[in-house]
Amino acid sequence: MRFRDKVVIVTGGGRGIGAATAQHFHDEGATVFVWEIRAEETNEQRCHVRSVDVTDAAQLEAATREAIATAGGVDVLINNAGIIDDGFATDLTLERWERVLRVNLTGTFLPSQAVIPHFRERQGGIIVNTSSISALGNRGQSNYAASKAGVIGLTRTLALELARDGIRCNGVAPGVIDTEMFAQVPEKIRAKFLAKVPLGRLGRPEDIARLHAFLASDDASYITGQTLFCDGGLTL
Ligand code: NDP
Repeated sequence: MRFRDKVVIVTGGGRGIGAATAQHFHDEGATVFVWEIRAEETNEQRCHVRSVDVTDAAQLEAATREAIATAGGVDVLINNAGIIDDGFATDLTLERWERVLRVNLTGTFLPSQAVIPHFRERQGGIIVNTSSISALGNRGQSNYAASKAGVIGLTRTLALELARDGIRCNGVAPGVIDTEMFAQVPEKIRAKFLAKVPLGRLGRPEDIARLHAFLASDDASYITGQTLFCDGGLTL
């Protein structure tokens, strides 16, 4: 129950890693705001689902104000929303390139920008961003890899800019995690990835949820600016 009386926002929390993360924080006592694109808005005990697009600054500012008013403050922001749209660099249209950058990178920057004034006011707060092993380069993912490498730079820079205000910013870099996103990858490529994982299994959304919770907890109070790879050893 490390998050009793804490308020946690999870973007893209409607399914996959985000849903497991929202569930994990809730199980550990947090009040959770799930910001999900095109969501049906609901309020259940300590869980508030809101329809928020992470690329829309006005929606993010309004949703931040509403979370603070409803729950009395915000302690943790988990920037999890992300998309893929794979294709070789030579085939990608500018529109496909920009859309992935916009959701994955700008969609990490804007929610952070929305909560930072509140975190500064309270001289505390935690941001956890979502990169990927693809940040190291991956055939067919130039848009995605660039966005996720950008997230690492953003994480390091936010950590530096916000440390004096008692705000920590870290990142997670998942390997192959068994979600609907990974299901979009062709079967042959999925099998290849699995064969390369030293720990011999795909990651589960809960593997990343637990890492989010660790980074957001006091157990990680001296860690900032890091992106932790959680990939069963795949990048070794
Ligand atoms: P999913 O596709 O299963 O879930 C992503 C969620 O983000 C969906 O609920 C989606 O909504 C939501 N979303 C998409 N665009 C927006 C937006 N503009 N605003 C708000 N929400 C949005 O992905 P995963 O759970 O697999 O991945 C979560 C994160 O982890 C992503 O950042 C991904 O890049 C990263 N990651 C995943 C890996 C994997 O193997 N699965 C590996 C490495 C990194 P909707 O359902 O409506 O589309």
